[in-house]
Amino acid sequence: MEKIKQYNQMHASEPKDSILESKEHTLRQGEEGFVDASKVDKLYEWCHKLPKIDLHSHIGGCIRAKTFLSLVTERGIAIDHIDFYNINLKTAFEIFKISSELINTCSVLRRVTREIIEDYSK
Ligand SMILES: [Zn+2]
Repeated sequence: MEKIKQYNQMHASEPKDSILESKEHTLRQGEEGFVDASKVDKLYEWCHKLPKIDLHSHIGGCIRAKTFLSLVTERGIAIDHIDFYNINLKTAFEIFKISSELINTCSVLRRVTREIIEDYSK
């Protein structure tokens, strides 16, 4: 309910001359035009303030670091070779693979899902 209230408050503050609705400030393909920088800044700021919702998350990618480490330690999975401060696509997929190995029981799935929902609701 609080989130809906926040959304409504944010929506009420929408700039009336929004760049999205302003024809003269919209660049169209093949048309010359300009973008008013102050309006772009205003829109950018407004978009940043809007409450967000995550429409697509992978459980394996949202597992809490603390839980990941705890489960990895419990199961004796080696992760010393992974540089968690410098993740590229290859290491990201390695982490996803480990995560899916960790989330292989109903109790772990329940725990991780509950934690993700808790984290997302903050
Ligand atoms: Zn996906």
